[in-house]
Amino acid sequence: MNSLKTITINISIPLFISLVFSLMIFYDEKIPKVIFSLVPYFFYAISILVLWVSWHFNRNRFIFIILPLVLIHIGFEYFSAAKAGSLFLYTSILYPLHLIIFLVLRERGLFSIWGIFKIVFFIAEIAVVLYLIYFPSEMINNYLNIKMFAFSSYPLKDMAVAVGIFVLFILISLVMFNRYLIYNSTFLVIALTFYAGFYFLKLPHANELSLLTIGVIVFGLLIRESYRLAFYDELTALPGRRALVEDMAKLGMKYSLGMIDIDFFKKFNDTYGHDTGDEVLKMVASKLAQVSGGGKAYRYGGEEFVLLFPSKGAEDAYLHTDILRDTIAKSPFSVRNKKSFKNIYINISAGVVQNTSKDKDPFAVMKRADNALYKAKEAGRNKVIKA
Ligand code: GH3
Ligand code: MG
Ligand code: MG
Repeated sequence: MNSLKTITINISIPLFISLVFSLMIFYDEKIPKVIFSLVPYFFYAISILVLWVSWHFNRNRFIFIILPLVLIHIGFEYFSAAKAGSLFLYTSILYPLHLIIFLVLRERGLFSIWGIFKIVFFIAEIAVVLYLIYFPSEMINNYLNIKMFAFSSYPLKDMAVAVGIFVLFILISLVMFNRYLIYNSTFLVIALTFYAGFYFLKLPHANELSLLTIGVIVFGLLIRESYRLAFYDELTALPGRRALVEDMAKLGMKYSLGMIDIDFFKKFNDTYGHDTGDEVLKMVASKLAQVSGGGKAYRYGGEEFVLLFPSKGAEDAYLHTDILRDTIAKSPFSVRNKKSFKNIYINISAGVVQNTSKDKDPFAVMKRADNALYKAKEAGRNKVIKA
C-alpha cells in the first residue's frame, strides 16, 4: 500500500490545478469576460502541446486522453442541441471507462501491435458514438436512461453516475495499492474534473473550463514525467547520477558524502541470476531511501549508491550510514531455491568523507569517499570507513 504522504503529494498537484479553475467558475463575475472568451483557444493550444509532447516522449497514452476531449468540444460547438444532448449522454458514460482502459493499457509505440490496437479501438469508439448520434437506437437509449437511484443527478443520467462510482472505485484502489501513483492520482483527478464539468454543464463556462483544466493537468503530468525520466533511475526509483550532479552543484560550504557498494554482488548474480540481483538492488535502494539525518540517496550506477548529507560533518554522516548498513545486513531477502524459499542476507560497504578546503570540487570529495570505500572492502566488507 502506498503511504498517505506520497498519496497526498501526488493528488494535491492535479487537485490544486482543478480547484483553481473551479474557483473561476464560481467567481466568474470577478473575472474579465475576455478571459472566458479565450478559454476554447487555450484549450486547443494546450491540447496541441500535449499531443506534441506525448508523441515526442512516446507517452501516447495522453494522446488518447486529450483527443476525445477535443472531439467532444468540437461536437458541443457544432452539433444541433438534440445531437449535442446525445453526445453528452454517450460520452458521460464512455469517457470515464475510456480513461481507465487507457490508464491500464501498457505504454507501447503507436505503431506497435498494441499501438495499432489502441488506434483501432479509439476509432471504433468514435464510430459507435457518431452512429448512435445520427441513428439513435431506442433500445440503447432506454437502457442508458434507466432510473437507478432515488436522487437525481441531472443532467447526468443514473447510468453515468453508476459508471462513475465504478470508475472512481477502481481509480481510488489503484491510487492506494498500485505503484504508478503519479499516473493513477492524476487520472483520478481527471475523472473528477470531467464529471464536475458535465454535472455543472448549465453554469456558464463550466464545461469548457473543465476541459481546459484536464489539458493543464495532463500537461503538468508530462512535465513531471519528463523530469522523472531525466533525473530518476528506472529500476530503483532513486534519483540517478544526473540528479546527484545537479544537487552537488547546489551544496553549501560544509557537507559529507558516502559512497556505497554492495558486497560480493557479482557472486550473487552468478548464483541467483540477474533478475534476482535486480530485486536485491531495489530492496537495498528502498532501505537507502529511508536515510536519516537529512541525507539523500542516489543510484550512482550498477550496484553503487551515493548518500549526500548537506551541512553535516563526517561524524554525523558516518552514524547515519552505519545505521543503514546495519539495517540492510539484518534484512532477510527471500530467494527461490529450487522448490523452497530461503532467506539470504546482503551486505554493503561504505566510505564516508566530509569536504575540506583542499577539495577542488565535489568530484574530488567523491574520489576520496571511493578510496575510503575501497578500505572498507579491504577491511573485510560490511563496514563503513570514515576518512
Ligand atoms: P565487491 O564486494 O568487491 O564489491 O564485489 P562485487 O562482486 O560486488 O564486485 P563489483 O562491484 O566489481 O561487481 C559489480 C557487479 O554488480 C557486476 C554486475 O554483475 C553487477 N551489477 C551491476 N549493475 C547491475 C544491475 O543493474 N543489475 C544486476 N542484477 N547486477 C548488476
Ligand atoms: Mg561495484
Ligand atoms: Mg560490489
